Amino acid sequence: MLSGRVSRIDAIQNKSANEAALLTARNKLVKLNIALTKIDEPNFGICRKCSKPIAVPRLMFLPESTRCVNCAD
Ligand SMILES: [Zn+2]
Repeated sequence: MLSGRVSRIDAIQNKSANEAALLTARNKLVKLNIALTKIDEPNFGICRKCSKPIAVPRLMFLPESTRCVNCAD
């Protein structure tokens, strides 16, 4: 039956969408863990180039960043 086939395709597409979301979440978790290991460093969140604080959203997105958005390549 066509409808059964369509819902099966839907299920497969939902599965890959969920897996993609899971992968994104895992990547974020890994980055946050990296941030947690660095948070005790005195220069965490401080731009290595201009010594200004790095914006928090940038740190959340790229915890490994050592330069602010203005000094980033
Ligand atoms: Zn900077």
